[in-house]
Amino acid sequence: MKSERKAEIIAVGSELLLGQITNTNAQFISKQLAEIGVNVYYHTAVGDNPERLKKAIQVAQERSNFIIFSGGLGPTKDDLTKETIASTLGKELVLNEEAFESIQDYFRKTGRDMSPNNRKQALVLEGSDVLVNRFGMAPGMFVQEDDTFYILLPGPPSELHPMFENEAKPLISEKLGLKEKIVSVVLRFFGIGESQLETDLEDLIDAQTNPTIAPLASDGEVTLRLTAKHEDEKETERLLKETEAQILARVGEYFYGYGETSLVREASKALHEHGKTVAAAESLTGGMFSEWLTDLEGASSILNGSVVCYTNQVKQQVLGCREETLSSHGAVSKECALELAEGVRKLTGSDIGISFTGVAGPASQEGQPVGKVFIGLSTKDQTDVFEWMFTGSRSGIRKRAVKYGLHHLLTLLKES
Ligand code: ATP
Repeated sequence: MKSERKAEIIAVGSELLLGQITNTNAQFISKQLAEIGVNVYYHTAVGDNPERLKKAIQVAQERSNFIIFSGGLGPTKDDLTKETIASTLGKELVLNEEAFESIQDYFRKTGRDMSPNNRKQALVLEGSDVLVNRFGMAPGMFVQEDDTFYILLPGPPSELHPMFENEAKPLISEKLGLKEKIVSVVLRFFGIGESQLETDLEDLIDAQTNPTIAPLASDGEVTLRLTAKHEDEKETERLLKETEAQILARVGEYFYGYGETSLVREASKALHEHGKTVAAAESLTGGMFSEWLTDLEGASSILNGSVVCYTNQVKQQVLGCREETLSSHGAVSKECALELAEGVRKLTGSDIGISFTGVAGPASQEGQPVGKVFIGLSTKDQTDVFEWMFTGSRSGIRKRAVKYGLHHLLTLLKES
């Protein structure tokens, strides 16, 4: 085969060209291919039109040796990817019994009648390796013709992602003679900015080869993806653990979890593990903290209840905030946050009381600038208030306040 590993991704679907969907499949496949050292040189998007798709295939054949298609494998008329590839390569489409069986099985299980066009989904390019679709009906395909590999994947990301990771990627590695196992771990941080994290880890990041360290910032959080390769899987694990330990020795205080977790999920887990209950006094956040917690199952054993204390009257009458505190320090103050956190803890008989008061904007309030936030955290032993100054939109400030609240709560539980 050609010695170079040049890949091109052809995403098929008029929705892409109309701007109705974003080509996240190309982004996903590109990242995955980078991990195994395959260079992606072109992303092409083409509508549901056989002539233009054929043209795109011919152009790709001139310049790439891995041509990866996403979309257009479904049962309807405008799903034409495999038909067009078949005619371009001069191949037949043949019925794949296994795929047909699993499609029939799907209809049997769901009690629906199978329409004739669903048989179309079980047709595959002759001579192809079939890629099993565990999350949908259309099978994927992997075909070699001369020096070029054609990989056909379904459009829905929920089907494409597992098929690529579990079926296509190992086949590509095998064709390239790669024996290495590639394993990634994602570390999640909160309370530290991306640039600070990168500065603290600069020498590690600069020296990275195996594992590689890739920082990514989003929504006020930073993640690091560590990716290690080795023929021996145990060695990959060891390399990952070693680098993780070096990273956590420096910025471990900001680390809160692995992979697809979130601050609220971790805080909820920690409350369950410690057998503690919480209650919130939500002025600035209007119930958002409680909404996030109750979105997770098992919330009733950790959240006793909350008070949306938007007016001073509710702060006083329901939560026992003193008149004098409000008149001399204002509702957006350290003193008020303290009394609200204590008040809601006592009112609900909870182990921990948390309060949120602040200025979400657009206008400043009681002489406090937009973005000023106080978060109170009260236990029977002590009450602390954290003062923050956030920037951004009204909803961004409120969301950030909830995240910091969860972060303080998590830290308290870890220390207890
Ligand atoms: P199906 O079997 O569901 O018909 P398909 O292989 O025919 O799948 P399409 O009909 O082209 O795929 O797309 C189905 C859906 O998958 C789209 O409506 C869109 O939600 C998603 N999708 C398609 N292509 C992409 C893409 N390049 N990036 C992200 N999502 C995509």
